[in-house]
Amino acid sequence: MERYTGKSVFGGVAIGKLFLYEKDEHQVKRVKTEDNDAEKQRYYKAVETAMEELQKLHDKALKEVGEANAAIFEIHQMMLEDDDYKESVEHIIDSQMVNAEYAIAQTGDNFAQMFSAMDDEYMRGRAADVKDITERLLSVLSGDSQSGINSDEPVIMVADDLAPSETVQMDKSKILSFVTVKGSVNSHTAILARTMGIPALIGSDIKLDKSINGRQGIVDGTNGCIYIDPDEETLERMKKEMRKEQEKKELLQTLKGKEDVTLDGKKIKLYANIGNIRDLANVINNDAAGIGLFRSEFIYLERDTFPTEEEQFAIYRTVAESMAGKQVIIRTLDIGADKQCDYFGLDKEDNPAMGLRAIRICLTRPEIFKTQLRALYRASAFGNISIMYPMITGVKEVDRIKEIEIEVKAELDSQGIEYGNPQTGIMIETPAAVIVSRELAKKVDFFSIGTNDLTQYTLAIDRQNTKLDDFYDPHHPAILAMIKMVADSAHAEGIWVGICGELGGDLNLTKEFLKMGIDELSVSAGKILSVRKVIRETNICEL
Ligand code: PEP
Ligand code: MG
Repeated sequence: MERYTGKSVFGGVAIGKLFLYEKDEHQVKRVKTEDNDAEKQRYYKAVETAMEELQKLHDKALKEVGEANAAIFEIHQMMLEDDDYKESVEHIIDSQMVNAEYAIAQTGDNFAQMFSAMDDEYMRGRAADVKDITERLLSVLSGDSQSGINSDEPVIMVADDLAPSETVQMDKSKILSFVTVKGSVNSHTAILARTMGIPALIGSDIKLDKSINGRQGIVDGTNGCIYIDPDEETLERMKKEMRKEQEKKELLQTLKGKEDVTLDGKKIKLYANIGNIRDLANVINNDAAGIGLFRSEFIYLERDTFPTEEEQFAIYRTVAESMAGKQVIIRTLDIGADKQCDYFGLDKEDNPAMGLRAIRICLTRPEIFKTQLRALYRASAFGNISIMYPMITGVKEVDRIKEIEIEVKAELDSQGIEYGNPQTGIMIETPAAVIVSRELAKKVDFFSIGTNDLTQYTLAIDRQNTKLDDFYDPHHPAILAMIKMVADSAHAEGIWVGICGELGGDLNLTKEFLKMGIDELSVSAGKILSVRKVIRETNICEL
């Protein structure tokens, strides 16, 4: 048995096979060959395997997400069999006497470029598909699994680090737990683990070696350790622990359908944070009263090109309709810092957390911002959507946003396009916004405090820097004083105030927040029922 440690970002126990995630970077070398026929055979065999993989994915998707969504795998199969693609690969192998990998990579690049240059938007979109099938073929040839999990059963995923853009693409139903060597407790991988309600460790000392693949592992998220090939005693002890966790979960289920109200009658908006439309099932299952933070930037991170207005509209509308009249607060894109999107074409920055991110991108690139706002306004005609702006530092930004909102509405009016009347709010996540919160409260419908960034900017601690985790203290008196100050400013101006940073789900502080007068807590879906329990046991007057 081997035992390694890590910092826990979500409790609980996971038992399953280990899977080492390695980045999908196929560095293709051009290698001369004498035997072009053998290289072509390797290519044909790879196509066959890829076709089988796609068929499996198609069948699975058909069951889980329906025909329309499964169709993409059929398209990929058609592309794999496309004569032009095939002829190009064969021609490169024959004429240059090179390896199959090089011919495939070259063909993929050429075709992707060709599609990208087309006028038709649908055809331009096919560039990503060509890249996808090319990567799949290269993965088959190198014997690796492709961007994720090559296993029929759910696994404990072990990785050096995981970027948000990588985690969004993973098949979450196959992940029992995350264990990473890098990453901080406030990284988005950690947030994802909390959203999924699965045990996770970061900053682990586990050895990243392919030999762990397929071996049995146990992640003890409560005590911050991982076992490989556990002995009988450990396995039994952990299974017992898992059963206990399960019982606790079942007990919480009795709170479903109950109101979020304190003993002395204050109603709290207990909402959920999501990053993705796929998180909705968890939100509904855990009985959240609304969505307090939809991190819309994940829509951008999942793609290779800007999501169109129509694509965004469809997503926002689905979320609003699925929540059936409950409030859905959608935050405009918070790209930048650790959430980098290549196609935004942003310059590399020395200090990205303090750089061009979030609302700063939107105000300097209004065409991107307006596309999102149009989609949001249009979707707000189909449900209870509110719009929230991140990284605000002062009144000037809010005034400029208001001007852009007016422009967007005027454009929609002139085109005769229907839209609703969404509430608009801002995130309070910079110390400057805290200080001027009274002025800001005059301009918006609500505040939501982003304690992750507020802690980073107040304590001058990079939330991504794992070495600083011991200094990253969201319980610091300065942070709590700021939260109180923001609550008072909001109430003085008659608006509501919530917390959507990770601190909102910290059960040690729930009572403190209620005492401060916080009206809304937006937490990961897995935490809803635990927070509900504390709310219902609290008497604010007695605090
Ligand atoms: C925050 O900063 O607290 C927040 C909720 O936003 P994010 O974690 O996405 O930066
Ligand atoms: Mg933030």
